[in-house]
Amino acid sequence: MLFQNDVTTYENSLEYAKLQDAKDLLRPLRSAFTIPQHEDRDAIYFCGNSLGLPSQNVEKAVEQVMAQWKALGVEGHFEGERPWTTYHRLLNTHLTKIVGAKETELVVMNTLTVNLHLLMVSFYQPTQKRYKILMEGGAFPSDQYAIQSQVKFHGFHPDDAIIEIMPRAGEELLRNEDIINTIAQYGEQIALVLFGGVNYYTGQFFDLAAITKAGHQVGAIVGFDLAHAAGNVPIHLHDWGVDFASWCSYKYMNSGPGGLSGVFIHERYAERPDLPRFAGWWGHDEERRFLMEKEFVPMYGAEGWQLSNAPILALAPYKASLELFEQAGFEQLRNKSIKLTGYLEFLLNKLNKENYNYDILTPKHPAERGCQLSISARNSGKELFNYLIANGVILDWREPNVIRVAPTPMYNTFEEVWRFVELLRLYR
Ligand SMILES: *Cc1c(COP(=O)(O)O)cnc(C)c1O
Repeated sequence: MLFQNDVTTYENSLEYAKLQDAKDLLRPLRSAFTIPQHEDRDAIYFCGNSLGLPSQNVEKAVEQVMAQWKALGVEGHFEGERPWTTYHRLLNTHLTKIVGAKETELVVMNTLTVNLHLLMVSFYQPTQKRYKILMEGGAFPSDQYAIQSQVKFHGFHPDDAIIEIMPRAGEELLRNEDIINTIAQYGEQIALVLFGGVNYYTGQFFDLAAITKAGHQVGAIVGFDLAHAAGNVPIHLHDWGVDFASWCSYKYMNSGPGGLSGVFIHERYAERPDLPRFAGWWGHDEERRFLMEKEFVPMYGAEGWQLSNAPILALAPYKASLELFEQAGFEQLRNKSIKLTGYLEFLLNKLNKENYNYDILTPKHPAERGCQLSISARNSGKELFNYLIANGVILDWREPNVIRVAPTPMYNTFEEVWRFVELLRLYR
């Protein structure tokens, strides 16, 4: 029943929406968060795809680090409730369930774009015959810049070395068959398939298992940028056999502005000191870290890619946010998410039957999307966005006329979804 929408039972009424909230077992989670205010009431915050909201847990976790620092100074690295030298590992326990990985395949460090570069240093090793990188067309700009600069760094030209898969003429979404066929078509020319998990603009959740399989069939490395996927949709990196992945934590995972990034490196690379990598002392064999030896010996697994000692004041909010995921259970969050976004879709479709023009770009099938719906408001442009802001809805606008609406299961409600669509109804 996981991907079943409740279309038959959804109702367009405030009472129905309130009843769903009353029945929602995850409803108490909302009170752990601080919701921005608009004219003395909670704003409708649909921007968790851009920056998740702060929870009181996060605040407490930061205070705990401050207290340990005040009490112990440098000794906090080895003493206190949560010693800093091993603090980063506390996050892996939670992350295993969110991205489907083993603890040793995970490390939280740096920020996303930095990690994409570090990962390409190890996993993009072009030769004269096999040098192309295949990516989704219309990827997030940072990914485009990172990939272009890596290709140039190796002496290739982006126009030649980067294959961008585009939607067919007149379509907004990528077809899985087109992705798979393009991989097969370029075959042994492809060194790396580096795809997004969920496209930031359309909200399309790609078939990552199929892409991994197709990439491996032609002998390419396969990596994913899970910025819009992690904490939003079910991910099974280890079982899918993905080579590497990275994500940021400030979107669906509520770790705070500029929050840290997670990295997955499949265990088949856990003991590969021969792989090129940009090394630093924190990736060095931890038993010998303080011997200050010359030769770099990487730690087992993803930890061997660490450069610096971990920024504990940034790890603490991420850890605290992950505890909320643990409390809720990812499957429960996903189930609510499907229902909540399904409700938004149901109400928009109803509105469209009354001659409104809110085309949904995002795939219809819940298995092919996360919580975000991208809506093209054809006749309204930026005015509509300004109207929504003025009425206390916080969401995201993209040129020329797309609003991205992300009701997150962690803190959004059915009532908010209903009120939002009601605002659209009143806008003519
Ligand atoms: C949000 C996002 C980024 C941002 O990267 P940072 O390095 O964290 O600033 C990069 N790629 C994608 C796909 C994103 O959605």
